[in-house]
Amino acid sequence: MNGSAMSGAAMNGAVALTVMPVGSISSSMPALSETPPSEGSSAPPVLAYIGAGSNLGDRAGCLARAAGLLSEHQRVKVLRASRIYETEPWGYHDQPRFLNMILEVATDLVPLELLDVLQGIENALGRKRFVRWGPRTVDLDLLLYDGLAIDEDRLTIPHPRMWDRGFVLVPLAELIPDLMTPAGERLGDLVRRPEVSRGVVPYPAGCAIP
Ligand code: AMP
Repeated sequence: MNGSAMSGAAMNGAVALTVMPVGSISSSMPALSETPPSEGSSAPPVLAYIGAGSNLGDRAGCLARAAGLLSEHQRVKVLRASRIYETEPWGYHDQPRFLNMILEVATDLVPLELLDVLQGIENALGRKRFVRWGPRTVDLDLLLYDGLAIDEDRLTIPHPRMWDRGFVLVPLAELIPDLMTPAGERLGDLVRRPEVSRGVVPYPAGCAIP
């Protein structure tokens, strides 16, 4: 997809979105590698990247359950998962460490439909919001969607804080190292900097693609 054009999936959706030019993000998003099941939709599938985090209870189990629920959705196919990392809390420090990973999905859902699915999974896994950036069983963020830039009440893509967060950038760089940051730097190069990867440590357990 180029410039400010909207993807087929987004155009076919019922929800109007403000779409802005995306510059380097769209040009550095990888091409779709597989075709997901897209029964009930004529839109071509697009790639999206989802950040998943957990710091309560069985953290690795929560991530695996979230990935499992996502893959059960008829219009979402989980293509790849990054490694899991154990990470220092961000924003609100007086809480347990997180496990984080990134999922690459192919979907023909429009962005707000995908956000609804993610929030449904958060609710199904018992997420409670007590403190902003505080503890949670599972947090799912829509980071990137087909190179689109969207700024709406409920949804901002790319995720507004992703470029500040090592726990997002390090696992994302495993999947799409050639993504260009807004500052024009290759993601794979950015995460080599100690200040970016500090506090983001590979965790022994992985998450199999469901
Ligand atoms: P959080 O508690 O940090 O997970 O934030 C959830 C809130 O952020 C929800 O109200 C979402 O509608 C909103 N939001 C805006 N952009 C995004 C995004 N890219 N991914 C997930 N949630 C988002």
